[in-house]
This record gives sequence, C-alpha cells and structure tokens, in this order.
Amino acid sequence: SVKDGCPLDKVALGHATWGLLHTMAAFYEDNPSDNQKRDIKTFLDVLSRVYPCEHCAKDFRKDLKEHPAQVNSQYEFSQWLCKFHNRVNVKLGKAQFDCSKVNERWRDGWLDGSCD
Ligand code: FAD
Repeated sequence: SVKDGCPLDKVALGHATWGLLHTMAAFYEDNPSDNQKRDIKTFLDVLSRVYPCEHCAKDFRKDLKEHPAQVNSQYEFSQWLCKFHNRVNVKLGKAQFDCSKVNERWRDGWLDGSCD
C-alpha cells in the first residue's frame, strides 16, 4: 500500500477515483437539468482522456463508447456507474458489487448503522 505523502500507484489512484465518482453519483440530482447532464458526460469524457493510467484510460474510453453514461437521474447514474465499475472488477478478477446496495455504500451508510 502507498505511504501517506508519497505518489499514488495504480491501485491507490483507482481507489481514490472510484470514491470521487461514486460520491458524485450519490449526490447527483434526481431531476438534473440539461446542463447538469451535459456536465457529467463531459466530465467522464475528459476524465477518460486524461486519466493518468494509460491502459486504464484506453479501456475506459472503449467502455464509454459501448455503454454511454446514463445520467437522467440519481438512480440512473449511480446504477450505470456501479455496472461500469463491475465491468472493471470483472476485468481485474475482483468480486462483483451488488448494485442494489450502492446508495447504502456511497450515500446513506449501511442499514446496520456501522457508518454512524
Ligand atoms: P476499488 O475497485 O477501487 O473500489 C473501491 C470501493 O468501491 C470498494 O472497496 C467497494 O466498497 C466499492 N465498490 C466496488 N465495486 C463497486 C461497484 N461496482 N459499485 C459501487 N461501489 C463499488 N486498475 C487496473 O489494474 N487496470 C485497469 O485497467 C484499471 N482501470 C480503471 C479504470 C477506472 C476508470 C478507475 C477509476 C480505476 C481503474 N483501475 C484499474 C483501478 C481499479 O479499478 C481499482 O480501483 C484498484 O485495483 C483498487 O481496488 P480496491 O480493491 O481498492 O477497490
């Protein structure tokens, strides 16, 4: 694992980036304006071009083309992002996340109170 105060490797960068992306989806509008929808799509598009892991970014761009971001509501965006993350999990041989739990994980905290 990366020491605090030291450069991020691919794992630490990924972990931090997923945290940002899922938290953006957690607090995305239920009824986004056309500008808000466009901003998210632009953000993902640019991120997939500047993400500082070249082979990750290449697959990211390909995946975005095959599975365009769905951004019409908080539910839609957070589910789309969960499925996108799961496709990366599959590629890396990691466990699949249960997307019905995405708002517990990233917005509300677990129902058992363990995040309170
Ligand atoms: P992470 O995958 O970073 O997940 C962080 C937390 O998110 C988990 O602890 C879990 O609680 C939660 N979570 C897991 N899955 C989901 C889901 N589907 N929905 C919601 N929450 C979830 N690494 C590579 O080696 N090769 C790559 O090509 C590559 N591409 C990447 C592309 C992108 C866009 C990003 C952001 C990262 C990429 N990574 C890649 C990094 C990789 O996905 C992981 O971030 C890294 O391996 C660290 O894994 P982790 O076990 O800390 O959990």
